[in-house]
Amino acid sequence: MTPAHAGAGAEPGRGPALLSLTEATVRFPGGPALDGVDLEVAEHEIVCVLGPSGSGKSTLLRAVAGLQPLDSGRVLLEGRDQARVPAHQRGVGLMFQDHQLFPQRDVGRNVAFGLQTRAVPRDQRELRVRELLELVGLPGAGRRAVASLSGGEQQRVALARALAPRPRLLMLDEPLGQLDRSLRERLVVELRELFDELGTTVLAVTHDQGEAFALADRVVVMREGRIAQAGSPLEVWQRPADAFVARFLGFDNVVDATVSGEVADTAWGKVPVPDGSAQGAQTLLVRPAGVRLVPAKEGLRCRVAARTFRGTHVAVHLQPTDAPRLEAACGLRDAPAVGDAVGVVFDPDEVVVLG
Ligand code: ADP
Ligand code: MG
Repeated sequence: MTPAHAGAGAEPGRGPALLSLTEATVRFPGGPALDGVDLEVAEHEIVCVLGPSGSGKSTLLRAVAGLQPLDSGRVLLEGRDQARVPAHQRGVGLMFQDHQLFPQRDVGRNVAFGLQTRAVPRDQRELRVRELLELVGLPGAGRRAVASLSGGEQQRVALARALAPRPRLLMLDEPLGQLDRSLRERLVVELRELFDELGTTVLAVTHDQGEAFALADRVVVMREGRIAQAGSPLEVWQRPADAFVARFLGFDNVVDATVSGEVADTAWGKVPVPDGSAQGAQTLLVRPAGVRLVPAKEGLRCRVAARTFRGTHVAVHLQPTDAPRLEAACGLRDAPAVGDAVGVVFDPDEVVVLG
């Protein structure tokens, strides 16, 4: 397959595929970890694979890196089949889940690792290490001991080490997984800026949806070794492909429905659906913002079972008399108290008929 042909599947506006997997399959005794995965990553694109633990994310990266042979299917880099190309000749960088710095080496020699193995002359190596430490916000840290660094600093060193050999594709396995939340939120913004600046092509995997949505140009949701959905963060967020994706994104108001015209029959009673929705037996998602509270005698009768403070709003968990629980998003000041009786009506703009 020529490079031009390999890129034919990429969407308009994106460049030709730098990475292309076709029907990539890896089987383990317990079942397939990758099950016929088709995926393309264009040059300069940041793709984030999102999925629960065990869905095959690390196996996907290891297969691209050449650390895990495929049972069937192909991995192409710039159009060239990698089946016979050993890991060290693929020109891809992989930052592992537990970033595994060498504890007996100082920071500079950790970053220089991939340059030494490529026989880069010493003066160039030192220059490159200095540049990279500045890039990741650790200027002058070259002589520090790894053990003296905080978790966030170690993560930056691991990133500098992965970037040092200028890989044509940088792969990150749960890059911020072990850091606390506020640090993660800050670092993910820095990473995004850094990759934009360098034009790095990135394939990252994570189980954390916030991380994926903040980092990616395109999000790929995985389930049991298969791709459940791929699209821009906005597309995936607005239109989850199915109940699995919706629940994985944290939407719990998912219910069986029979759609007829612009109304759906559900366990929560009649729910208005958007114009042009698919008809018949469907699965419905109601975003919490579309669950409107009204006086107790109107709409679906519920009791407030719990409230969770979420910073920008209060998540109110509602128990109808005879139906599954519902979550509503309420303003900080007008959220009802636990035990209150309320009525519920639905806003069709926040209802999605899932595929
Ligand atoms: P994730 O990174 O999404 O958590 P993995 O790719 O690590 O998922 O694993 C996917 C599935 O493959 C899991 O069920 C896991 O137990 C299994 N698996 C991964 N590596 C091996 C291996 N070397 N031998 C056997 N089973 C494996
Ligand atoms: Mg993993």
